[in-house]
Amino acid sequence: MVLILLGPPGVGKGTQAVRLADELGAAHVSTGDLLRAARREGTELGLRAQKYMDAGELVPDHLILDLVKEHLAGIARDAHVLFDGFPRTTAQATGLDQVLKDSGRRVDRVVLFEAPDETIVQRLSGRRSCPECGAVYNTYFSPPKVEGKCDRCGGDLVHRSDDAPATVKRRLDVYREQTAPLVAFYEASGAPFARIRADRGVDEVYADFLGSVEAAG
Ligand code: AMP
Repeated sequence: MVLILLGPPGVGKGTQAVRLADELGAAHVSTGDLLRAARREGTELGLRAQKYMDAGELVPDHLILDLVKEHLAGIARDAHVLFDGFPRTTAQATGLDQVLKDSGRRVDRVVLFEAPDETIVQRLSGRRSCPECGAVYNTYFSPPKVEGKCDRCGGDLVHRSDDAPATVKRRLDVYREQTAPLVAFYEASGAPFARIRADRGVDEVYADFLGSVEAAG
């Protein structure tokens, strides 16, 4: 199964994706996590992506598509794959369709997570993430057991610099301008499409998420 999690930054896609990937034994492909890893490792991609990420802008499509292709090549063809934060533009969605088609796959399900801007801004200000395993916490709603440490792997949690208020505002504008059109793109594609209200507790959202994935078979 190839599943796409759509929705604005900070809506909780990452938290939900990590949980479902654990439960299904699926590959969780977060382009944001892959780019942050490339930056930490100081690769050429990491260096090229840096200025876009710091400004809250999108990294150019061709860099993202190459990154995803390379990453998918290392994942078994019959594995479940959860895309989180990708695709973010129509060009990326079209590119993904082609990559999947070339390997006899297609997008099996799209889930859109929705929440009001105020909720998103508050969540991002409290968000802490683990650079090691991608787990996400929130100091207000879902704190780790030990402050500053990841429950899953013991890694040191970080507050992302692009979660600063001015950058968050730009990321939300970019979402509206460049990523929101994918809702119409996927609704027209014929792939099963579900909307989930994400301004609720993590468990409630997860129950609906799991239900919608199971309904898709
Ligand atoms: P995220 O962790 O998904 O919020 O992504 C953090 C930042 O990485 C974004 O604000 C973009 O600068 C960049 N990024 C992540 N995924 C993509 C993508 N699919 N297309 C373009 N830029 C991306």
